[in-house]
Amino acid sequence: AGIVVAIDGPSGSGKSSAARGVARRLELRYLDTGAMYRAITWWMIQVGVPVDDSDEVAARSSEPEIEVGIDPEHPTIAVDGVDVAGPIRSREVTNAVSAVAAVPAVRRRMVEIQRELIGSGGIVVEGRDIGTTVAPKAHVKVYLTAHEEERARRRAAEGLAGAKLELTLTQKEMALRDRKDSSRTTSPLNKAADAVVLDTTELNLQQVIDRICALAGE
Ligand code: C5P
Repeated sequence: AGIVVAIDGPSGSGKSSAARGVARRLELRYLDTGAMYRAITWWMIQVGVPVDDSDEVAARSSEPEIEVGIDPEHPTIAVDGVDVAGPIRSREVTNAVSAVAAVPAVRRRMVEIQRELIGSGGIVVEGRDIGTTVAPKAHVKVYLTAHEEERARRRAAEGLAGAKLELTLTQKEMALRDRKDSSRTTSPLNKAADAVVLDTTELNLQQVIDRICALAGE
């Protein structure tokens, strides 16, 4: 079976670029689990489910078909056949996703799809609960962090890159989302006890990729 690399961490820690970069370098597949939670959140908003109504979110959680592409050269995300790669980065989805992701029925469904995709390995998986829940036996577990100001700066830079969309979250909104994510009672998104913590505040992307590849034995 192939290697599984689990990369967890809060928003703006550099997870996505790092995970994708590692997958490309090591010729592994790449799974962005955050995109899946964003996609189901996008669907809930689209069909008019109030995202704070956890019973309603749970009741409808098996309706949308979430398809995620795991080629690191070209990651894709679609809901019922519609490409949602752009809309899932909107501010509306970003501010609603924590509430939807806190619903146990949503998490059960997402984790099931994720485990199926991970299959026999050969994949880099990024998220919040990969090392603790989705792939507790991952060969490499990394928990990325960065100082809050640096994380907010990175998110703002991402927003400028995708100019059309309202991507730029304020530092306050981001801190609030992280607090919601890590304080939830159903499945708090925390560091696995055996994860290697990597503070990326002072590192550039290549250095982060190098360190993770070194942990993977490359
Ligand atoms: O990583 P990203 O910022 O795209 O994740 C969006 C949201 O999805 C997180 O704020 C969190 O609420 C949820 N999430 C999750 N579990 C994961 C990945 C993301 O609950 N494994």
